[in-house]
Amino acid sequence: MSTKRYTTPACMFCHRKSTLHLDPEEAAALRAGVPIQDAAPNRSAPERERIRSGIHPHCWTDAFGPTHEEENPMTDITTRAFRRFVEVFAAEDTAADLASRLSCTEIDALVDLLAAAGAEDAAACWLDHHGPADDPGDEHYLSPDVTPDSR
Ligand SMILES: [Zn+2]
Ligand SMILES: [Zn+2]
Repeated sequence: MSTKRYTTPACMFCHRKSTLHLDPEEAAALRAGVPIQDAAPNRSAPERERIRSGIHPHCWTDAFGPTHEEENPMTDITTRAFRRFVEVFAAEDTAADLASRLSCTEIDALVDLLAAAGAEDAAACWLDHHGPADDPGDEHYLSPDVTPDSR
């Protein structure tokens, strides 16, 4: 199968055109005005962008950072680290050990984070353990005789 030479528009970042080789079907589809994702369904998104607009993947990355979550290792690390954080801080004994030593601001931040991660029970548990340490009038004050905390 012979390929067609194709010159892209000038990249908006470095202003250089590139030449690439398209399959005859891809070239014909593009000439006919078929959207790039249909004209070149087997190519990666950065490659399609390069064909369509001439933007080089590395120029795009330099300007905006990686665009595709699955190609961005930071996203994966952040997600895994976050899951691990929630796993550890959702443990009842962690809450029992630490909740009374955290300030109201710290508890609020932690409870918000746990709730955002869907760990509502853990969030409530931290509040249960923190409340008795607050003074009457403090934001989370729980009278000691109504708490489940029986240390
Ligand atoms: Zn470029
Ligand atoms: Zn408090």
